[in-house]
Amino acid sequence: MTNWSKSSWRTLPRIQMPDYPDQDALDAVEAQLSRYPVLVFAGEARRLRKHLAAAGRGEAFLLQGGDCAESFEQFSSDMIRDTFKVMLQMAVVLTYGAKVPVIKVGRMAGQFAKPRSANTETIDGIELPSYRGDIINDLAFTPESRIPNPQNMMRAYTQAAATLNLLRAFSTGGYADVHKVHGWTLGFTDGEKAAKYRDVAARISDTLDFMAAAGVTSDTAHTLQSVEFYTSHESLLLEYEEALCRQEAETGQWLAGSGHMIWIGDRTRQPDGAHVEFASGVQNPIGLKCGPSMEADDLKKLMAKLNPKNEEGRLTLIARFGAGAVGDHLPRLIKAVQEEGANVVWTCDAMHGNTIKSSTGFKTRPFESVLREVREFFGVHAAEGTVPAGVHFEMTGQDVTECTGGVREVSDEDLSARYHTACDPRLNASQSLELAFLVSEELSA
Ligand code: PEP
Ligand code: MN
Repeated sequence: MTNWSKSSWRTLPRIQMPDYPDQDALDAVEAQLSRYPVLVFAGEARRLRKHLAAAGRGEAFLLQGGDCAESFEQFSSDMIRDTFKVMLQMAVVLTYGAKVPVIKVGRMAGQFAKPRSANTETIDGIELPSYRGDIINDLAFTPESRIPNPQNMMRAYTQAAATLNLLRAFSTGGYADVHKVHGWTLGFTDGEKAAKYRDVAARISDTLDFMAAAGVTSDTAHTLQSVEFYTSHESLLLEYEEALCRQEAETGQWLAGSGHMIWIGDRTRQPDGAHVEFASGVQNPIGLKCGPSMEADDLKKLMAKLNPKNEEGRLTLIARFGAGAVGDHLPRLIKAVQEEGANVVWTCDAMHGNTIKSSTGFKTRPFESVLREVREFFGVHAAEGTVPAGVHFEMTGQDVTECTGGVREVSDEDLSARYHTACDPRLNASQSLELAFLVSEELSA
């Protein structure tokens, strides 16, 4: 850490990053991006850290969600609006159950680069380099598309800036008024479960009506009208991250200017590797994915490197073990945290350990597994006396058919209808909201 600089990662082993064929083109893009404005302000990152500190103490709850991979092709106002809207609905439902403020963090405005399990992909006997996210190469299965193109970083930056601009407008411009919860369609029709959700929604509406009648109006409760919405992404493409990394004049601290929170993926969390190095020197809140191969000693090293001052809210541990496996892994990591007396924020990514291949050939995730992993996560924390501080979902406000199950029963056969993800399968709007109702129930138990 003493020798950290925004480029100190360059001398360390790096994985999951592209080898750009044209060094001059890469240099030019990095130079250009380093002159462009950052997307977030350091004060915002510090504010988010304060909120996360509260979550770590059980005084707030983190909802982090959005696409697995943002896409150039599917970029539109509607898509941003719909994801923002369903996250807000989920947050209201979670607030009702948890009785604490819900911190809303999108996997948005920068979630472009993807780690892959294989370097190549073979279709019909043709082998090509894997798709690594729109910021790196293109999804189309042709040799040209798969060549890493540094210009994609400029397009990703532009899309991230426009996304954040719209999110900021929605957050403060009146769209996020919690009183409009009445008008939010739940999309749940018949059936016993649906009736239960509509009942909770009605109770939330009643509470808001009561508050309005009691004089807690929009004027006096500014926070009911506007929300704080933060952005996050995996800090994978370090050339992009470095170009947007800036030193704050007032404090001398460094900021990853690409988003409020950045995280380190389960594949790139080597304690002496490039990705951990980069994240260690910026002041943003950092997420760390913890999968089944994470050992107690790894975690101890990572906590020492990423949060040497043991600051509250600095480090969020995002557990992603898979339904049925949480009890095998989480307790040893909780123990490691306790042995170090470390301040961490424990959250549950209930997606990445639950990916299966459907009978119809699609990569999918059963709603039941996602829910089960969240429940196991809460169960282990209850048993250990520690704080389950949040949830992390791959989701969209669109009515896609990528994950199976839910009250509107997506079947293996339905998956082909609207399977739009460029990478991992996401919960659709209805599944996301349903999950919020079920998690809310857990939180109020
Ligand atoms: C992701 O969040 O999209 C991802 C790749 O997760 P993980 O690093 O946990 O596999
Ligand atoms: Mn993913």
